[in-house]
Amino acid sequence: MEAPKVIKGVSQPPNVNLSSVRKLRKKRQELSVETFVEGILKGDRVRLGQAITLIESTKSSHQAKAQAIINTCLPHTGKSFRLGITGSPGVGKSTFIESYGQHIIQQGHQVAVLAVDPSSQISQGSILGDKTRMFNLSTHPKAFIRPSPAGESLGGVARKTRETIMLCEAAGYDFIIIETVGVGQSEIAVHSMVDFFLLLLLPGAGDELQGIKKGIVEMADLIAINKADGKNATKAKQSRREYGSALHIMPPKSSGWTPTATVCAGLSGMGIPDIWDIQQQYQTKMTDNGFFKNNRQNQSQYWLHETIQNQLKQLFYENEAVKNVLKEKENAILKGELSPFKGAEELMDLFLKNNQ
Ligand code: GDP
Repeated sequence: MEAPKVIKGVSQPPNVNLSSVRKLRKKRQELSVETFVEGILKGDRVRLGQAITLIESTKSSHQAKAQAIINTCLPHTGKSFRLGITGSPGVGKSTFIESYGQHIIQQGHQVAVLAVDPSSQISQGSILGDKTRMFNLSTHPKAFIRPSPAGESLGGVARKTRETIMLCEAAGYDFIIIETVGVGQSEIAVHSMVDFFLLLLLPGAGDELQGIKKGIVEMADLIAINKADGKNATKAKQSRREYGSALHIMPPKSSGWTPTATVCAGLSGMGIPDIWDIQQQYQTKMTDNGFFKNNRQNQSQYWLHETIQNQLKQLFYENEAVKNVLKEKENAILKGELSPFKGAEELMDLFLKNNQ
C-alpha cells in the first residue's frame, strides 16, 4: 500500500503524540498543593479548572490533594452570595442565567455558574454542557461556567458542587449561581448550599403541569414567572397574582422573609433588574437579622454529616466481605428465615471485623 503523500501548499495537521499528551496531563496533576492554591488565589482560571477536575476525580490520590487544596483555601471562602435556580426543563433557566449573569457582572461582581444535575449520568450531557446556551456569559472574562460532574449519584454530585463553590470563592468569584432541574431531590441538595432560592415557572400552567412539587414552591425565596413576553404577558401577570396569593398563605419562613412572585423574560432582560433588587433586599435583611450567618453555619454542619453518611455507606457497600454475603442475607430475609434487623446486625458485624 502506498504511503500517504504530503500535498504541497496544504498545511498538515500537527503530529499528536499521545504519550506526550499523557505526560503533560500527569505533570499537571502532579503540581503541588501550594502551586494550585497560589494559582487559585490569583484567580487563574486554568488552575481553578484543574483543581475542580481533582475534586471530580475518583482516584484517591486526587481526592486527597483536592481536600488539601480546599482546606488551604478555606480562609478565602464564604465571601460570596450563593443563588440557587430551579425550574423544569425548557422553562428558560439557561437563557435567564445568561441575562442575569451579565447583569450581576455590570453591578461589579464576578460570577461562577455551576450545576447539580445527576441526570447527566444517564443523558451523558449536563444542563450546562452545551456552552452555546450561555454564549455571552461563557466568553466573559468575569464569568466562570462549569457543568455538573458526570457519572455520580446525587450525593456525590452535590458534595462535589459544594466543594467547587469553595474553590470558586477562593478564586474571587463573589456571586455563585447553582442551576438544577426542577424534577426531584436535587432541589433539596441545592437549597442546602445556597443563600437564596429562585424558582422559575411558566405563565399559565399549574404546578402539576410543570412537574413542580409543592415542597419546592415552599423552598422558594422568590418565584419568577418567566417568558412573560409577547402574548404571554397577560397570562404571566395572572399567574403572578395566583402564586402571590398561594405564597401568602404558606407558613412563615424561619428566616422571617416573605417570598413573593414576580414576572420576567430572560430573553429580553425584562424584570431582571427587579429580581436583582429583591435579592439585594433579601441579602440586607438576612444579614441584619443574623439569618445569613446562622444559615451558612447550619449548612456547613449539614454537609459534615451528609458527607460522613455518604462515605460510611460507600465503605460499607464496597466492603468485599459484605458484598460476598449481601445477596445471601437478602434471600434469607425474603424467605422469612432472617429478620431484616438481625440481617443488618450480622452484616454490620461482618463489616466492622473486615474493615482494616
Ligand atoms: P432551560 O432548559 O430551562 O435551560 O431553558 P432554555 O434557556 O434552554 O430555554 C428553552 C427555550 O425557551 C429556548 O428555545 C429559549 O429560546 C426559550 N426562551 C427562554 N427564555 C425565554 C423568554 O424569556 N421568552 C421567550 N419567549 N422564550 C424564551
